Amino acid sequence: MATLQEVLNKNVREGELYEKLDRDFVRCFACGHCCRIPDGQLGVCKVRYNEGGKLYVPWGYVGGVQCDPIEKKPFFHAYPGALAYSFGMLGCDLHCSYCQNWVTSQALRDPDAVSPPLRATPEELVRDALRQGARVLVSTYNEPLITSEWAVEVFKQARAAGLMTGFVSNGNGTPQVLDYLHPWVDLYKVDLKSFDDRHYRQLGGRLGPILETIRRLHEMGFWLEIVTLIIPGFNDSDDELRRLAEFLASVSPDIPWHVTAFHQDYKMTDPENTPPETLLRAAEIGAQAGLRYIYAGNLPGHVGGFEHTRCPNCREVLIERYGYLITAYRLTAKGSCPSCGASIPGRWAPSFQGQITAYPFLPGMRRRSGLISIAN
Ligand code: SF4
Repeated sequence: MATLQEVLNKNVREGELYEKLDRDFVRCFACGHCCRIPDGQLGVCKVRYNEGGKLYVPWGYVGGVQCDPIEKKPFFHAYPGALAYSFGMLGCDLHCSYCQNWVTSQALRDPDAVSPPLRATPEELVRDALRQGARVLVSTYNEPLITSEWAVEVFKQARAAGLMTGFVSNGNGTPQVLDYLHPWVDLYKVDLKSFDDRHYRQLGGRLGPILETIRRLHEMGFWLEIVTLIIPGFNDSDDELRRLAEFLASVSPDIPWHVTAFHQDYKMTDPENTPPETLLRAAEIGAQAGLRYIYAGNLPGHVGGFEHTRCPNCREVLIERYGYLITAYRLTAKGSCPSCGASIPGRWAPSFQGQITAYPFLPGMRRRSGLISIAN
């Protein structure tokens, strides 16, 4: 019986995000590790590998598909209420012990993370997304940067069909991968997990490339939202939260910042679940730093007004939410406040078009369209 690694190594094609070096080495640019890979070896992510001086990358499968409310990604300033058809592949360039998608992200590192990949084509994914009523196609669940070539192939079809596209990413990018994605990706969410380089090294990364990626994403005009999962004892000190929020405000005070509650998951079971008071403290620190749009997530009904979008000018409530559910929408067709006329940054539809779902669901594709395991 073939191992998962052997199966995945058959579902590849030559990548585009790399350069050839001497002695059949290659350098990969898909993520901030910029691995220099000798012939016959894998990159840190374990899904890209060098064979004969060429870099091979994942192609032609998904680790899973799911229909999510766009608020779950979370994007709060992009087409509120839209359905986000979400797909992932396998693998990650980090190894966070609290990962909430560990079944797909750590499939190559952890024998308990069993996630059978399913054969898929871009046409099948787009067709199913349209059938479900999605407005956005999102690469998520594993780290999408490490499978950028496949995402772009899917997004080309999505754009042709009139869909928007998005990445839900750890932000460990490079200038090369952002240039590569720029024509095809509309929305980009970065998990800024900490503002301490030592913490990032525990997770298998470095802070520097992530901050640089955030600056570039904003400069290049991607619609950017930032999430920080607040973990008691890991990243919840006032000092760290203040430095993180001040960094974001220095890039732009208009970047939405989501502070979300940790719940015990995967290998991180020591810290307590994040209480609402901690989220509210983080939100206040963000407001003091000058951020205009701060959201407290994962604890619906327990975080006061921090689930809603308010006009930063006159404080009118513009979008009311309970968890992922939109309960009121008052933005004008131009995306401005109806009371004072202030323009609210984001990607807005001319009108709120209702919500297909406020809860994730599995699309019919797995059952109907014959997506089959690539191990068969
Ligand atoms: S995606 Fe990142 S971890 Fe994977 S081979 Fe490329 S540089 Fe290395």
